[in-house]
Amino acid sequence: MNAFFKRLRENVRHCDELIDLNRAAVDERNRWMLVVVTSVFTALFVLLVLFSLISPAYAGLRPIYILGLAMLVSFTLLLRFCKLPATAMIYLCLTLMSVYAAVLSAFSLPQYVCVSMLVVLFVFFALFIDYDVRMTSAGLAAAGSYVVVTLLFKEGDAMSNEVVNVISVAAIAATVGAFLRRAQLESIDMKRTLTVVAYTDQLTGLPNRRSFYERQAECESGSCASPVTSMAMIDIDRFKSYNDKFGHQMGDVCLRLIGECFSGFGAREGLEFYRYGGEEFAATSRGRTQEELAEVCARLRSEVSSLLVPGVGGLTISVGISELHSGDEHSYTRLISRADTALYFAKNSGRNRQFIYDDTMAESERETAAAFH
Ligand code: GH3
Ligand code: MG
Ligand code: MG
Repeated sequence: MNAFFKRLRENVRHCDELIDLNRAAVDERNRWMLVVVTSVFTALFVLLVLFSLISPAYAGLRPIYILGLAMLVSFTLLLRFCKLPATAMIYLCLTLMSVYAAVLSAFSLPQYVCVSMLVVLFVFFALFIDYDVRMTSAGLAAAGSYVVVTLLFKEGDAMSNEVVNVISVAAIAATVGAFLRRAQLESIDMKRTLTVVAYTDQLTGLPNRRSFYERQAECESGSCASPVTSMAMIDIDRFKSYNDKFGHQMGDVCLRLIGECFSGFGAREGLEFYRYGGEEFAATSRGRTQEELAEVCARLRSEVSSLLVPGVGGLTISVGISELHSGDEHSYTRLISRADTALYFAKNSGRNRQFIYDDTMAESERETAAAFH
């Protein structure tokens, strides 16, 4: 028994952690599920209203069905236009639906057993995701209130059947819900992990080249809020000699140090750094001109040169800088190739320096482009 409660506590803690890590994805999924649930219930209540029009036995319940339909339509509108978090909407939905189930039960004939609360409990526990303790308490509170209404308004066998049904369905739904919730949370978390792995460079922890191209495509399609306006291509100077002298493992340590330096610098200065490949990096800026970016890059170079790199004390980098020209908005290829050309000039004129692209480099740019194709 002790082991059972230990595993139960462990399961609750694990699911709560997964929710914390995946809050946005969980919210999105809950919102989508709410839309599905309200759509299905709206269709069902339209049918019930129609049914009450043709069947005299259900004619008495027509106003309650119409009330249910009105409530669902209002909730759908609220869901569409109100920006409340999905979790708040779930609890609002549970409250409305369980109050409605209680009203339906109180107004139906005292000897009839209602299934509405059973459906509400199953939907709530099995389809939505939230912190376990909060969910269980809310579900139990809804089931408990319904039992009180049943004891007040029902009689005989119907009353005892209703109470037994609600208690057993609450227990079954909570158990099934706990398993489903864990499975869904693990799948959501797996997706997040895979995305992080696919877009992050393992060695430096910086976004990788795939991420660079995705952001580029996003900007080119016009779907990013603030587009990239300038960029820098960065290459570590004479890194092959460092590897040759100290070995590849030390080279990796060095790249990791550079990665840490770039991500800290990027966070402070509002730059996005990517590992473009090998010992080459790209930095993109949103809003800066190439001259403004050059000032930032000068600070970056001085920060890199004061890094405590094992064996050599400091490293130098060469940087090529370019900016977006009018007409380039739908293709960043030229922005990248201009930065690359400027980097080539920085290397050729002695390294440990930065060059801003200008049109006199155009001939060389064309050569670089030709070499790539
Ligand atoms: P330059 O100043 O012209 O850029 O000279 P360089 O030696 O830095 O340039 P080169 O392109 O000749 O060499 C790049 C080196 O970077 C070669 C390769 O061994 C090293 N390198 C690339 N990726 C990694 C990595 O992930 N780990 C380690 N340790 N070395 C890497
Ligand atoms: Mg290099
Ligand atoms: Mg290189």
